[in-house]
Amino acid sequence: MKKKILILNTGGTISSVQTETGYEPAPGYIAAAMQSIPAFRHPDLPSYHIEEYNPLLDSSNMTVSDWNRIASDIATHYDQYDGFVIFHGTDTMAYTASALSFMLENLAKPVIMTGSQIPLSEIRNDALDNIITSLWLCAHQPIQEVCIYFNQRLLRGNRAQKVSAELFNAFDSPNCPHLARVGIHIELNHELLRPAPQQAFCLQPITPQFIANFRLFPGFATDVLDFLLQSPLRGLILETYGAGNAQNNDPRFLELLLAASARGIIIINCSQCQQGRVSMNQYATGYSLKQAGLISGHDMTPEAAHCKLLYLLSKNIPLDKVKILIEQDLCGELSH
Ligand code: ASP
Repeated sequence: MKKKILILNTGGTISSVQTETGYEPAPGYIAAAMQSIPAFRHPDLPSYHIEEYNPLLDSSNMTVSDWNRIASDIATHYDQYDGFVIFHGTDTMAYTASALSFMLENLAKPVIMTGSQIPLSEIRNDALDNIITSLWLCAHQPIQEVCIYFNQRLLRGNRAQKVSAELFNAFDSPNCPHLARVGIHIELNHELLRPAPQQAFCLQPITPQFIANFRLFPGFATDVLDFLLQSPLRGLILETYGAGNAQNNDPRFLELLLAASARGIIIINCSQCQQGRVSMNQYATGYSLKQAGLISGHDMTPEAAHCKLLYLLSKNIPLDKVKILIEQDLCGELSH
């Protein structure tokens, strides 16, 4: 039987047309264009229904409430469809993919996010293949997780990062192998795919939380961090150097972090490097962060760490439990 896929069109370049002020998502455009392209009626493709968001968004405008809407649309239609394809702008797609991977607990169906660097409305575009292959993967492969499909790459959503504002290879997952080799043949990396969940699917919405990512740079004023930590902050993703290192010749910096951890602010140590992992025992400059109460983000991307913290804080569980879960692999976002 033909599979049924729900497409959620949230906006982005993929559904844009050229206007006097640059590309803008155009209501109704994608549905009309797909209707007029014979490839979308090919027997190898699933049947699909498009739900278009109003307003269509450039993904730079997305907020937690948009993530909740996408997740709740998937939950509402979970039993009616075999899989879900989300058209989304590329700018914040890695954040949405990470957030959804946590929110859609015990997911047993494919959720594939895609977009494009050139709109479908242009003659030279990367949208057509991204849509066709996303639909095909959704209908024919045993995917049970949130992925990004983009320019012949199938990536785990919570491992992906936008790596190019220019090339068709806009996304990569530098710390996690690709989930498929896509060429003349499509070969899934079955060992890497998420296994079938043991429990029933359920949705965990997220509530906005006062958290921040702070990227260290040489010579930053400790006062900036002080200011941030004095606010009613609940959590901080500290983006450190290399294997999770930061200056340890500035006692005030370490005292501020220690005092904030003692007040219950969760501080996650994530590396600025795209490959490798945080290892706070490797250098004295990392060890002092461990002593200051930082939790290791291991090999999580800063995007995934941010969304995971939001998700865990939204569950209203004790802080000790949040700290333990931060360091555990919940849905493929982290490896030990
Ligand atoms: N600014 C656009 C967006 O993120 C970029 C894109 O879709 O490629 O919505």
